[in-house]
Amino acid sequence: MSDIGFIGLGIMGRQMAQHLIDAGHKLFLHDIGPLPQPLLDRGGQAGKSSEEVTRQSEIIITMVPDTPNVDAALFGAGGVAAGLSPGKIVVDMSSISPLATKEFARKINALGCDYLDAPVSGGEVGAKQASLTIMVGGPERAFEKVKPLFDLMGKNVTLVGGNGDGQTTKVANQIIVALTIEAVAEALLFASKAGADPAKVRAALMGGFASSRILELHGERMIQRRFDPGFRIELHQKDLNLALQGARTLGIALPNTASTQQLFNTAEANGGKAWDHSGLVKVLELMAGGHEVAQHGNAGQLLD
Ligand code: NAD
Repeated sequence: MSDIGFIGLGIMGRQMAQHLIDAGHKLFLHDIGPLPQPLLDRGGQAGKSSEEVTRQSEIIITMVPDTPNVDAALFGAGGVAAGLSPGKIVVDMSSISPLATKEFARKINALGCDYLDAPVSGGEVGAKQASLTIMVGGPERAFEKVKPLFDLMGKNVTLVGGNGDGQTTKVANQIIVALTIEAVAEALLFASKAGADPAKVRAALMGGFASSRILELHGERMIQRRFDPGFRIELHQKDLNLALQGARTLGIALPNTASTQQLFNTAEANGGKAWDHSGLVKVLELMAGGHEVAQHGNAGQLLD
């Protein structure tokens, strides 16, 4: 059993930390907001700062929203770096910039510690069910030590390469997810406007070549009009920004990533930055003169 620091206990972090506690590990918790009571009730220890949590732990995990938040948690006042001693391992499971990640890793390595970037895919459902996909960058020796913890939180755990490669893989993942959500939204809008029941269309397509987790989960949300997050549009804008910035640096075009980002921006302009990313369908509905996907369908009776 290990002593583990867990920093950032929002939608994802609280579920992931729960699995580690349930497996018998001792967890030291810190968040700039209130800590989830269920974790404290199950024996999680509250820490006043990331530094304090780091002093008490061998492995320190961060799960915060964006690159500046990881920077603050690691290197800000009372941050992880101030509490590190050689041999500890820092594991960032947030989805952030691959470039900044390489710099963070260098600074942590200079303190005698290994760094792993280990962003996840699978959403809140995957976090709850411990079925996350975990994409890891960093040295193999650190990966082998942390792998048993990854296995408690996820099912598909891959060491992709060196530091930054985990985050690069996650950006690639987010391109596929965004463009697939957009495709599912267009397809359901088309079917509904044509007079077909979108719930039945979705059920029919689930058996075929167009089936996907996104048609299943996000398609269901679009039909049932459930846009509470989940994964907020503002977080997906952050990820596509990383893709588009990277594309500029690399001198390549990502045309459909760019157009999907414009649709997310339109959602934000209409008050939707905190909607679940399946809310992208609402932008297409606006463009269709206000026709809603669920309008002609039977939203209450989805066939699984
Ligand atoms: P969230 O906003 O619900 O949770 C983040 C938590 O971090 C919050 O509780 C916040 O108070 C805390 N925090 C922020 N800055 C901090 C700091 N400096 N020190 C300590 N705590 C700090 O976000 P989330 O949905 O849990 O996402 C976390 C990360 O996981 C993001 O990078 C996101 O892109 C990624 N992700 C999210 C999902 C999802 O479905 N929600 C899926 C895969 C990956």
